[in-house]
Amino acid sequence: MESKLVLITGASRGIGAETALLAARKGWNVVITYKVQKSAAESVVDRIEKMGRRAWAVKVDVANEDEIYALFRKIDTEYGRLDALVNNAGAITGITSFVDMSPERMREVFNINVIGSFICAQEAVKRMILGSGGQGGSIVNVSSAASRIGSPNEFIDYAASKGAIDTFTLGLSKEVASEGVRVNAVRPGLISTDLHADTGDKDRPEKLKQFIPMQRAGEPSEVASAIVWLISNEASYVNGALLDVAGGR
Ligand code: NDP
Repeated sequence: MESKLVLITGASRGIGAETALLAARKGWNVVITYKVQKSAAESVVDRIEKMGRRAWAVKVDVANEDEIYALFRKIDTEYGRLDALVNNAGAITGITSFVDMSPERMREVFNINVIGSFICAQEAVKRMILGSGGQGGSIVNVSSAASRIGSPNEFIDYAASKGAIDTFTLGLSKEVASEGVRVNAVRPGLISTDLHADTGDKDRPEKLKQFIPMQRAGEPSEVASAIVWLISNEASYVNGALLDVAGGR
């Protein structure tokens, strides 16, 4: 039987790259996207192909809906199926107080983290739902523990964008459940990736680990395990879950 295909946005590095590699180890073919880091994305593809699975890297800025539509057209014509979507691409904002945030910054983080995930999910759902001749499928949205913590004095705008992702997950999971599509979210805590450099403090994981019950930052592979489980048939009755992967924080 032909392997299932998962699309993972923002998978040139960090949590997305680990998810792509683990999904391939579990037998999935993988389409990954990147925004600028082409060679990092190509190296993920190489590693997957060495496992005997098929993989493709596509350049997509999820803040640009035309690029998202082109990506899904490519999936239709070149790969011919889509079984799972991981809405992982995301951007964080610099550490600052709420009163100092510009409207441009607020719009940008919502465009990438929220609208980008919405449009990817719309395109995936159209192809997956049984009523349109699809075969069903699974969507995992990568939220953040920030959605329940609120990130005061750091990046309330980013935290609120992830709050939107939680609510989106709850609503969409109920809307498409009877059409064979499961929708869940993971909420990572502090994970050791490049993301923290974009806050202006690349040492955040080290500095904040004392506030985590497990006393350490998480590894991207530890989030990937949860995501790959959620898209798999092992999670066949899990729908609308917001799964914390945050070391107890
Ligand atoms: P990284 O910074 O390590 O990787 C980000 C990935 O997203 C890269 O592949 C990057 O592509 C891509 N990307 C960034 N902006 C865009 C864009 N506009 N359009 C398309 N792709 C884009 O991040 P993480 O792995 O840490 O984060 C992945 C997800 O996990 C995000 O949604 C983040 O909010 C969430 N998360 C992370 C936590 C953490 O502590 N690290 C905690 C909680 C949630 P390129 O390489 O080409 O730039």
